[in-house]
Amino acid sequence: MGRVIIIGAGGVGTVVAHKVAQNADIFTDIMIASRTKSKCDAIVQAIGNPNIKTAQVDADNVEELVALFNSFKPEIVINVALPYQDLTIMEACLQAGVNYLDTANYEPKDEAHFEYSWQWAYKKRFEDAGLTAILGCGFDPGVTGVFTAYAAKHYFDEIEYLDIVDCNAGDHHKAFATNFNPEINIREITQNGRYFQDGEWVTTAPLSIHQDVTYPNIGPRDSYLLFHEELESLVKNFPTIKRARFWMTFGQEYLTHLRVIQNIGMASIEPINYNGQEIVPLQFLKAVLPNPQDLGENYEGETSIGCRIRGLKDGKERTYYVYNNCSHRAAYEETGMQGVSYTTGVPAMIGAMMFFKGEWKRPGVWNVEEFNPDPFMEQLNVQGLPWHEEFDKNLEM
Ligand code: NDP
Repeated sequence: MGRVIIIGAGGVGTVVAHKVAQNADIFTDIMIASRTKSKCDAIVQAIGNPNIKTAQVDADNVEELVALFNSFKPEIVINVALPYQDLTIMEACLQAGVNYLDTANYEPKDEAHFEYSWQWAYKKRFEDAGLTAILGCGFDPGVTGVFTAYAAKHYFDEIEYLDIVDCNAGDHHKAFATNFNPEINIREITQNGRYFQDGEWVTTAPLSIHQDVTYPNIGPRDSYLLFHEELESLVKNFPTIKRARFWMTFGQEYLTHLRVIQNIGMASIEPINYNGQEIVPLQFLKAVLPNPQDLGENYEGETSIGCRIRGLKDGKERTYYVYNNCSHRAAYEETGMQGVSYTTGVPAMIGAMMFFKGEWKRPGVWNVEEFNPDPFMEQLNVQGLPWHEEFDKNLEM
């Protein structure tokens, strides 16, 4: 049915490649392209399907991307490189007539700041070109937006309060490691917190607000308020929302390491001169930290991510909690990657599947919650991320 190119051969790219290969009725021709071709080749070997093509590409370079797209002629690119590459890949898609999907919004390299405005600015150009761009199609952002759209469609007239709760109760047996790209991860969690209340954004000091949240099959975990990118699009697309927040669990050990890293200047993105060479401390730190792709083997426990929603139906207040729990071990056994890569890569594949099936095909630039959630929700159950619902229980929030 369709030709697809995956850009990025990290943890998430590996999962996307496995899942795309498993759905050969939809994805007939597959290419994995990344900065380091040997990593793409290793994925193909792990999958054991020699028909999957690989290529080297610098995704910061629009011309290189256009040449690659023109030679392979994909219908859609699944961008699972880093957020820095979003705009160059979108630009190349426009030049070569390719549709686009990613899992994280654009972030400039020299500023730890992410927001959708840069990518939303492409809306008219994608519309005019008759091309679809699907933004933020991992788990969070991604499934959390689809969960919210599903709740709005089936269970609420008005969503008023939305809390996205993200727990990783896994243990990888390392003193300190991040579950996805360390540079992107540390930039995200050392920022100020931010949440939406009564039409305004409220800023909080980093990791200053936290509370216990009880996660299914896991129990109570200290959960910290962070800003997360899907809040920006969800409050725009569901204007009845009065308050929207995002919570993520961190262990004390993790937070202690993080504090030390910050205090000694290793989280800085300001370049410094070291022995005549310019280096960015955070990028150097990434080079010495465990590679998230190597965490899978001894990873125990599970993740639990969901949406806790309060709102009105037929004039009455009700609550709804929808979530997925994902076992690190099961993810590893299927794809060789841990649960965080798995929960990101599976939805990215499903988003591309929705495109090929014509369910999520609409010229312009869209966040996932702007499409019909039903066929996507069906596929989550089929593709390894089953979800569960609880009605009218205490949300703890
Ligand atoms: P990794 O660092 O493991 O992988 C990134 C890959 O992109 C690497 O293969 C890297 O190449 C490649 N890459 C980086 N720069 C370039 C470039 N200029 N040209 C070509 N390739 C490049 O990251 P993850 O797999 O953990 O994460 C991938 C994406 O998924 C990130 O954008 C992350 O923010 C997002 N994410 C989204 C989540 C969600 O739920 N929505 C959750 C987790 C992650 P090389 O191998 O040479 O370094």
